[in-house]
Amino acid sequence: MSETLSSPYLCAPVGSWPRPPELVRAVRERRRGRLDPDSFRRLADDAVRAAVAAQEAAGLDVITDGEQRRDNFLAFVAEKLEGVTMMTVAELLPYLEDKAAFEEVLGTLDVPAFSLTNPVAVGPVRRRQSLAGDEVEFLRHITDRPIKVALPGPYLLTRAMWVESLSQPTYRDREALAEDVIRVLREEIAELQAKGVAIVQLDEPIFTEVVFTQRHAHRTFMCGALTQRLEAEAELTWAVEVVNRTAAGLTGGASWLAVHICRGNWSTREELLLRGDWSPLIPHLKRLEVDQLVLECATDRAGSWEILGQLPQRLGIGVVNPRTAAVEDPEAIANRVRALTQFVPPERIALNPDCGFGTFAERPMNDLQVATAKLRAMTAARDRLAAGL
Ligand SMILES: [Zn+2]
Repeated sequence: MSETLSSPYLCAPVGSWPRPPELVRAVRERRRGRLDPDSFRRLADDAVRAAVAAQEAAGLDVITDGEQRRDNFLAFVAEKLEGVTMMTVAELLPYLEDKAAFEEVLGTLDVPAFSLTNPVAVGPVRRRQSLAGDEVEFLRHITDRPIKVALPGPYLLTRAMWVESLSQPTYRDREALAEDVIRVLREEIAELQAKGVAIVQLDEPIFTEVVFTQRHAHRTFMCGALTQRLEAEAELTWAVEVVNRTAAGLTGGASWLAVHICRGNWSTREELLLRGDWSPLIPHLKRLEVDQLVLECATDRAGSWEILGQLPQRLGIGVVNPRTAAVEDPEAIANRVRALTQFVPPERIALNPDCGFGTFAERPMNDLQVATAKLRAMTAARDRLAAGL
C-alpha cells in the first residue's frame, strides 16, 4: 500500500461524491426521524457501491465512499459523538452573537438555512462509536483499492461546535473544548490507520476564511465559522497548534495523514467564494506537521502555483474544479503540473479535484456525468505525466 501511495501524480478524490436523489431524500427523512436505520443503510450501501464504481472506472489510485452516509462533511459527527447535537443553521440563529449580520449574509448567498446542519457541543464530548469505522468496514467488502477517509479537522470542529450559550455550561472556553476534540480525533485516526486506511484527511476549510474574509473586509458565510470574527495571525497560530497536537506521532507511517484546505464549496457561483492566492497562508502551512496538504489550486481564485514550492509536505494539487460545468483539458492540466515540477519534485505531487463534489447532501456541485468526466480528465493528465517520467 505504501508503494502505491509513493507513486508520483497519485490520483485521489477529496472526499464527497454527488448523492442520488433518493438518498438525498433519505438523508432528510432520517434527520427528521422518519426513516429507520436499516432502510437508510440499504439505500446508502447502494449509493456507496455506485460512487466506488465511478471512481474505479475513472482510474483513481485511491478511493473514498463518497461520504454518501453523511449529512455533510462536518455535521455527521453529531450522530457518532456524545455531548454533541446536530442543529440546522435556522435553529442556531437565535444563539448567535451577531444574528442580523448573519441573516443578511445567508440571504445574499442563497444559503438554505433550514437544510444546512452544524454540530454543537452541549455536553462532555466523547466518542460513542467510531466516526468512520462503519464506512471503512463496508468499503473493505466492495473494493481492493487503497481507501481514503476525510474527517473534520480539529480547528474546524472546535470552531463549529463552540456556541457559547450552549457549550459554556460544560466547557469554560473553546480552548477547553479543543482538548476533547483533539483526543477524540487522535483516537479515531489511530483506529483508521490500524484498519489499513491509506490516507486520513483532516478537513480545515476555514483556514482560508480566517485570512480572506478579513483581507477583504466583508463577511462571508462558511459552515463552521458562524459567529466569531477573529484576528487572523493569532487565530491561525492557534489553528496550526491544534492540528499539530492532533497529528503528533500519527504521521510518517504506512498511512498518510493529510490536511485539506479549500475556500468553501457551498455555491457554484465563483464570485461568492473566497478569493486570494496562497501567499498569506504559506508561513502557517509550512508549520503543519502532517504528511500531505490537499489544496485548492484549479480555480483562478487560488492564484499562481509557484509559491507552493515553499511547502515541505507532499502536495495534493487541485487540478479540476468541482463547481464548474466545463471539463478541464488533460493536456492543459499536465502542462500546468509539468511547470510545477520546477519547484516541487514529481514524487511529492499528487492530483485531486479542488474539493468534494457533494460536500452538502442537499447541494451537489455537479451532476454525475460532469463529475465523472472531471475525474477522467485528472487521470488522463496523470497518465500523460507518468509517461514522461
Ligand atoms: Zn474542500
